[in-house]
Amino acid sequence: MKKVLFVASESDPFIKTGGLGDIAYSLSKYLNAEGVETSVVIPKYKLIPEEITQDFELIKTFNVPIGWRNQYCGILTDKIGGTTFYLIDNEYYFKREGIYGYFDEAERFAFFDRAVLIMLKEIDYKPDILHCNDWQTGMIPVILKKQYINDPFYSNMKTLFSIHNLLYQGIFSREVLTELLNLPIDLYNGGTVEFYGGVSFMKGGIELADKISTVSKTYAEEIQTPYYGEKLDGLLRWRKQDLIGIENGIDYDFYNPETDSFIYANYGIDTIDKKLENKIKLQKELGLSVNANIPMFSMITRLVRQKGLDLIISIMDKLIQMNIQIVILGSGDRIYEEHFSNLKIYYPNKVTTLIKFDNELAHKIYAASDIFLMPSLSEPCGLGQMIALKYGTIPIVRETGGLKDSVIPYNKYTDEGNGFTFSYYNAQDLHYVIENALQLYYDRKNWVKLMKRAMSADNSWKKSAKEYIKLYDTLCN
Ligand code: ADP
Repeated sequence: MKKVLFVASESDPFIKTGGLGDIAYSLSKYLNAEGVETSVVIPKYKLIPEEITQDFELIKTFNVPIGWRNQYCGILTDKIGGTTFYLIDNEYYFKREGIYGYFDEAERFAFFDRAVLIMLKEIDYKPDILHCNDWQTGMIPVILKKQYINDPFYSNMKTLFSIHNLLYQGIFSREVLTELLNLPIDLYNGGTVEFYGGVSFMKGGIELADKISTVSKTYAEEIQTPYYGEKLDGLLRWRKQDLIGIENGIDYDFYNPETDSFIYANYGIDTIDKKLENKIKLQKELGLSVNANIPMFSMITRLVRQKGLDLIISIMDKLIQMNIQIVILGSGDRIYEEHFSNLKIYYPNKVTTLIKFDNELAHKIYAASDIFLMPSLSEPCGLGQMIALKYGTIPIVRETGGLKDSVIPYNKYTDEGNGFTFSYYNAQDLHYVIENALQLYYDRKNWVKLMKRAMSADNSWKKSAKEYIKLYDTLCN
């Protein structure tokens, strides 16, 4: 049986800040169900709730060299839902109030990457494939290929590097190579990890992994162009034979309006009218005008530029004039947090802004709202639109990355599609499709048909897990 170790900086049910956390948990679960023995390793952050790790067993301790120093590392493990999880413990690096954004990110993840590789030998666990994810794990293929590959224990291991978001690359000063990673400066001089005068963890992963994947077919194409390539498009074009796009899925065990215990009223395709109960209850809870006929728009997102928030801000005056309600749940950059919070103060009956990360509330909003806005500037895959579809909440998205692959534009002539889309990053175009969507919203019969089509879209992990298995096969043959 093939063995895969999924290496990531976050994973449900321990800790998650975005899509990667969902994927680590769900993909490994589906791979295990399909007969690929998959384990997951993440850092043991302070923010991981203790009740989840209380049964974890400390199975090994060892030292990890970081430059001239040796740092303690403990390995804890347990099984959750059929998947074995490993936690890398070092309180100096990970017992902090947050999980990302520290001054010593290079050192924290240099430690993590080397610790994962040393762990394998220490616990005598030999995966066929190290499935690395995003810049935090980008140095694993580098350390493996440049330092460990002659050791028979490691020599057959293959690496897959998955890009979940090219915007975050892990770029540091060149000293990290020699002073933290104990790697030769030649890797910088020769260009393997050199990036405009610094060292890029992301570039290291892309250069040296055996295969590269990203999270949608469209994004796999987009990142080979200068517009989306974040200055790595040349390298990605050079490696295009080894680059593949595999759509993420969503876990219908968690995201299913028929069984979801977080929402006010369960509903399905045949009981779609019950969706309205969710809207009324949420309106009450949030202090909005209580009226089932007012269309409710929602956004559940990190509040960062990538999510197309500037387009929303540009047309907000016009949206406020319409007979609609807007619910925004998110956190992120202060400028957006403040802007959207102020709207709530000025228009309390129309706009509700909730600045926090709240999973339960997110489910309630997906169930309650009619239209989900996701006009992203770029979107590698996007989970929000897939969740919205499942809840019969019609997505309005920009045609980029996974949004383009998962939302089929509504066509009133052929009566096809499951959402509304626009192509250029332009506020007027967004406004135009919002108006189109609203027109259809008031045509209840056709709107319900659209909702039903949305709810029957298949964005399950099962499909994607099969594609990963094929990719793993090509790596091992
Ligand atoms: P990204 O990974 O870029 O943040 P995705 O759409 O791929 O975007 O994944 C975001 C995930 O996080 C979705 O499951 C979304 O529902 C969830 N999410 C985002 N912001 C919040 C929030 N403030 N509260 C609860 N869930 C959130």
